[in-house]
Amino acid sequence: MPALAPTLTRFRKRFIQFAALSLIFAPPLSPFAHAEPKSTAHKTRNVIVVMIDGMRWQEVFHGADPSLAKELGPDAIPAGKERAALAEKAYVRSTVADSRAALFPFLWGQVAVHGQLFGNRDLGSDSHVTNGFDFSYPGYNETLTGAGDPRINSNDNIPNPNVTVFEWLNQKPDFKGRVAAFGAWENFDNIFNKARSGIVTNSSYTPFTDMPVTPELALLNHLKEESVRVWPDEIFDPPMFYTALEYVKYAKPRVLFLGLGETDDWAHAGSYAEYLNAAHRSDEYIGKLWALIQTMPEYKDQTTLVVLPDHGRGVGVKWTTHGQETPESSQTWMAWIGPDTAALGERSNALPVTESQVAATLAALLGEDYHAAFPKSGAPIADILAK
Ligand SMILES: [Zn+2]
Repeated sequence: MPALAPTLTRFRKRFIQFAALSLIFAPPLSPFAHAEPKSTAHKTRNVIVVMIDGMRWQEVFHGADPSLAKELGPDAIPAGKERAALAEKAYVRSTVADSRAALFPFLWGQVAVHGQLFGNRDLGSDSHVTNGFDFSYPGYNETLTGAGDPRINSNDNIPNPNVTVFEWLNQKPDFKGRVAAFGAWENFDNIFNKARSGIVTNSSYTPFTDMPVTPELALLNHLKEESVRVWPDEIFDPPMFYTALEYVKYAKPRVLFLGLGETDDWAHAGSYAEYLNAAHRSDEYIGKLWALIQTMPEYKDQTTLVVLPDHGRGVGVKWTTHGQETPESSQTWMAWIGPDTAALGERSNALPVTESQVAATLAALLGEDYHAAFPKSGAPIADILAK
């Protein structure tokens, strides 16, 4: 029985290190623009960002690809064949509409009805990253800071020299201490620059200690520390997600990030079934979180959610990989739902959107002008702000 080898670890690109130079040329921390609360025409009081690592637009809009359904990968997990058969049965349908709804019931049952989905190229809707690298850290940096940065050119776990929209909001009195980020990948502490930003951040196998211990949290922390570590730098998604859920119930953060990671790891491992299972679980978690917050007065009808990946992947036999040699991996998608976003559903013949626009769009929903504070950032997506 083949063991899960270290070859399953996340795809890595090692480039010449510019870390030292980055520190020298790092921009000033923040413009600290106007601190007074702004009036907003929008109903959104909270924003939630969920990123599903390396989730392709192809599965989001087409559903599971039957031609890949039997791919197990070189390091197939025990019972991989049986798992593949179950996944095929669970997600492959005779029509595209049924297939995608089977894989992503929340996206197609809720967002497509009450929100907007960008990125179906078959219908003339394009979503993409602009950072030029098409792998994880550059994608998260672009999305969270509003611009690609040539210094973020590897997945090395280094402190982000840039200020994320999360850190920027946390500097404002209305949001101070109400900003939190949870991620399966260990890099998230540094992507959000936890040491500098001071925002509540919890990643990978680290126990979470920033709230009073509940029985659920105690168990989650045990599981984090004691379960098998298939990927040394990334925990399975469930402990991360349920930790975040505990924190939402306790602290009701106004700005929340969730980074789900299994999709990318299983794809690199070549296991299409587990990639699909991770995708489906991600959708289920988003649905659970959305349902929970609709029962909480602090969130209900005043929260906008965006779901997107950090990069795409290749096509055909290259579905497992991504990066500069795989041009399709700049292609992404994004799903928005909230009280200020018109229910235009699956977009067609729409203006292209980029991940660099997400930060300013989130801020604008909250009545804040990130784009003015960081002119390099992408402008807010007008269609998300106009109901
Ligand atoms: Zn990634």
